Amino acid sequence: IPVVVAIDGPAGSGKSSVSKEVARRMGYGFLDTGAAYRALAWHVQASGVDTDDAASVVASLASFDYRIGTDPAGYAVHVGEVDVTTAIRDPEISAVVSRVARVPDVRTHLIELFRSSMAGEARPGIVVEGRDITTVVAPDAPVRILLTASPEVRAARRSAELVGSSAEHVGDAIRKRDEADSKVVEFMSAAEGVTTVDSTELDFDQTVDAVIGVIRN
Ligand code: C5P
Repeated sequence: IPVVVAIDGPAGSGKSSVSKEVARRMGYGFLDTGAAYRALAWHVQASGVDTDDAASVVASLASFDYRIGTDPAGYAVHVGEVDVTTAIRDPEISAVVSRVARVPDVRTHLIELFRSSMAGEARPGIVVEGRDITTVVAPDAPVRILLTASPEVRAARRSAELVGSSAEHVGDAIRKRDEADSKVVEFMSAAEGVTTVDSTELDFDQTVDAVIGVIRN
């Protein structure tokens, strides 16, 4: 059974890139759970379904052929044969993803997928990152971390990734998504036994080192 490292954090906290690098250095697998919610939002839109129509969103789970590996070096997301690795990062997807993520049947379905990925991991461990990993998906994980950063720093990091977007504009988008996400119960609660790593004053390498420090502790 692989060691599970559960990492939660808000939009723009850097948890995906940090988690991936931590996994690479530890020789662990890497599972980006947000990618599944994004891929579902992409699938729903590609099928011409309204993301606000919860019943149709749930119905579209039947045709959602989601494929993601756990190799941190070969990260790619597919829906059926389509490589959606880049498409799911589109701001248009970010703007609607919370609508599909708040549907309870969607969460139940995807959490089952995550747990089977975790159980099937062949490496000695797996870093799983998202919003409810420390609380719902893997509350018994031996390592549980909440990765935070100030709203200003998160907006600045995200806008550096998105060419042509101002930090102010990205800050608004992040604020909207945090607010939508916080309506889902148990999101982002710093549960008991969870170690908070605040990356506001840390650069990327220092954040990776801090997380590995928690794992080795
Ligand atoms: O981590 P990322 O920003 O890619 O997540 C995209 C969206 O997926 C989040 O805004 C949230 O709505 C949803 N999500 C979730 N539970 C998770 C991970 C992501 O609901 N464990």
